[in-house]
Amino acid sequence: MSQQQQDRTLDQELEQIELERTLADIKYKIIVLSGKGGVGKSTTAANLALALALNGKTVGLLDIDFHGPSIPKLLGLEGQKPAQANGKIIPLEYTGNLKVMSLGLLLDGGDDAVIWRGPMKMGAIKQLLKDVSWGKLDYLIVDSPPGTGDEPLSVVQLLKNPTGAVVVTQPQDLSVADVRRSVRFCEKLNLPVLGIVENMSGFICPHCNKRIDIFKSGGGEQLAKDMKLPFLGKIPLDPEMVKAGDSGEPVAYFHSKTESGKIFNEIMEQIVERIEGGTPEKVIKPDLETKTMKRYAIPTANGELCLHFGHCDQFAIIDVDVDNKKIIRTQLMTPPPHEPGVLPKWLADNNVNIILAGGMGSRALNLFLQNGIQVVSGASVGKPENVVLAHINGELETGENVCDH
Ligand code: ADP
Repeated sequence: MSQQQQDRTLDQELEQIELERTLADIKYKIIVLSGKGGVGKSTTAANLALALALNGKTVGLLDIDFHGPSIPKLLGLEGQKPAQANGKIIPLEYTGNLKVMSLGLLLDGGDDAVIWRGPMKMGAIKQLLKDVSWGKLDYLIVDSPPGTGDEPLSVVQLLKNPTGAVVVTQPQDLSVADVRRSVRFCEKLNLPVLGIVENMSGFICPHCNKRIDIFKSGGGEQLAKDMKLPFLGKIPLDPEMVKAGDSGEPVAYFHSKTESGKIFNEIMEQIVERIEGGTPEKVIKPDLETKTMKRYAIPTANGELCLHFGHCDQFAIIDVDVDNKKIIRTQLMTPPPHEPGVLPKWLADNNVNIILAGGMGSRALNLFLQNGIQVVSGASVGKPENVVLAHINGELETGENVCDH
């Protein structure tokens, strides 16, 4: 063997060791597959990861779909850049126990898809599996490239004995035939099929909220029966999901009590039951609509509550599980330029329920009330999370409304 060949083998062995080291801290690895693109594979992966995280699991969501890495859009993470430390990529934190990494977060924009063609794709798959520092995880959900070609094959092989695959299909015949191929692909690789999800099955009427079967529904369910595979659930074509996909607010997190939100939760429970032999203990039951989750907005300057509402440079948007008095997620958002009437609309559009502020003019206060947002003024300077925790525990001391302009 030449020196060059020896070096290459050594490099490959080192890479393998590193890959194994990263994967060793992950208990269960689930690959989400589909026969073709556009059937809702990423949507399923994202909502499954969220449902797991909201039920107390520590979760990583990895998007390696070259054909359209859509996880950043589905989760509202577009434009965010993951940091790097010690040669590793640090995944973004969506909630304290859900970390996210996507090929889309490493790309700068439209034309980059071209760069990934060819052998670089394999290198990128390996890098994303090997170089992301997840830490300890209960579940890693991998949004795989669609189809049954070299790309998903590499993902399965590099993951080394993944726990299983979830196969997503649509009810129409063609897509179901694609799924048959995906199932055969899993069989060849000894990858257990955890179950089949039938997406865009029936339609949720936006007026009466009932499911209507306008197209043929049940194809995936029949296929699961024929192939003696578990059927995990039918997700309707849901206008809420279209909105959720566009606004980056996945239903499992923001609308968990809707029909689709409930179905994702049931899918998650079946998967956990199959893998761990029991349904997860309910830890958090957030929902912005039924107010088991509240969204706070705190005007901030330099990371602390800012007493002069109109002078803040960012808002800390904090989601709180009210029943369990627990902060689920903090995001920093930059408001549009301050003009009369803009902020109340902006915060209402971002689903804020309550503002904790030092001071606020009475006109602004009324505008917020008209937009259905409660305002608590007279709070003191402090870390936004501490101010929110004090409020949910009934311990927030409020003084004068410090700024009445
Ligand atoms: P894939 O990963 O299979 O390519 P995506 O999950 O990215 O597909 O979904 C494609 C588009 O369809 C997205 O805009 C998504 O928001 C939307 N979508 C997915 N499932 C549904 C559904 N059940 N109802 C409405 N829209 C959906």
